[in-house]
Amino acid sequence: MSELHRAHNFNAGPAVLPLEVLQQAQAEMLDFKGTGMSVMEISHRSKEFEAVIATAETDLRDLLNIPSNYKVMFLQGGATLQFAMLPMNLRSAGSADYIVTGSWSKTALKESQKLGTSRIAASTEKEGFNSIPAAYDLDPKAAYLYYCANETIHGVEFPTEPVAPSGVPLVCDTSSDFISRPLDVSKYGVLFAGVQKNAGPSGVTVVIVRDDLLERTPSNLPVMLDYKTLAESKSLHNTPPCFGIYMVGLVFQWAKKLGGLAEVQKLNQQKANLLYKTIDESGGFYRGHAQPGARSLMNVPFRLPTEELEEAFAKEGAKKKLIGLKGHRSVGGIRASIYNALTIESIQALTDYMKEFQKNHG
Ligand SMILES: *Cc1c(COP(=O)(O)O)cnc(C)c1O
Repeated sequence: MSELHRAHNFNAGPAVLPLEVLQQAQAEMLDFKGTGMSVMEISHRSKEFEAVIATAETDLRDLLNIPSNYKVMFLQGGATLQFAMLPMNLRSAGSADYIVTGSWSKTALKESQKLGTSRIAASTEKEGFNSIPAAYDLDPKAAYLYYCANETIHGVEFPTEPVAPSGVPLVCDTSSDFISRPLDVSKYGVLFAGVQKNAGPSGVTVVIVRDDLLERTPSNLPVMLDYKTLAESKSLHNTPPCFGIYMVGLVFQWAKKLGGLAEVQKLNQQKANLLYKTIDESGGFYRGHAQPGARSLMNVPFRLPTEELEEAFAKEGAKKKLIGLKGHRSVGGIRASIYNALTIESIQALTDYMKEFQKNHG
């Protein structure tokens, strides 16, 4: 199949994957490393699969420079299951602090409130989730401080991580900006990401935990919710999502080949600049949702003058193979997700289309 048939894929997740990764998976599909089987057909206890998962972990450790006192897990249940697993493992009888900057952190807070005590350390909901909080009301005894690095639906991203009180672990949902930029893992207690936004197919959630926090896991948790057991078994307590882990591993190798996360970030910055510039220079025809200091490099929601124009924009775009531009059903408008694997050519196609559409309808 020709490369020419690939769409300009602005889907929010599952989302675009690197063409090279898909081609490698295709080439290895029928005979993985001389086994005469696909990676989906071999035992998760085989030496071939053990190498797949070990290499994926090593490559992620390289990319994010993960210190040795952190465990890496490849789990199932999506980022959404982490909304519950976190408080189950980390909170005991205490209270946890949540920074609410969009739909995902709000959902995480709600899930956590079902299971125990949670406080809102800051919320930008009244202003329509378009900024990063200017100040926090922090509990110095909190079990952890939770935030979402990049709100996928509202398109707001923290330029730097919030600072937790001393002794309070910082916990981060990094699903939609995972491996999009360098990160100082040592500032965190837990980081987690559903990989289908930026790093693979759905079905795998990466969880990175500082190992002293594993001592907090209560002994009565069901085993599939128990960080300590899952970490100690190296994600192989039961059958893991083998094919997904293989794919995530290929994406990690691809990011390393690009030169690592500093290089990946440069490309992402270039792409985002091009798109935001087009919005800013449209004389108000296109209006970005996030305030400039909170703009996401990964998800760019924006509005047009009317809902009719927004609908036409998404529809006509799809005819030009610009796919996935309709905004999330909860906020409407247009959203372009521009993850790592989206090429600069796709951004160029989008910004050309935006200018043409404005000329015809502005
Ligand atoms: C998509 C998303 C989730 C939910 O992920 P699932 O894997 O579908 O559970 C949570 N947080 C963020 C930031 C997301 O983008």
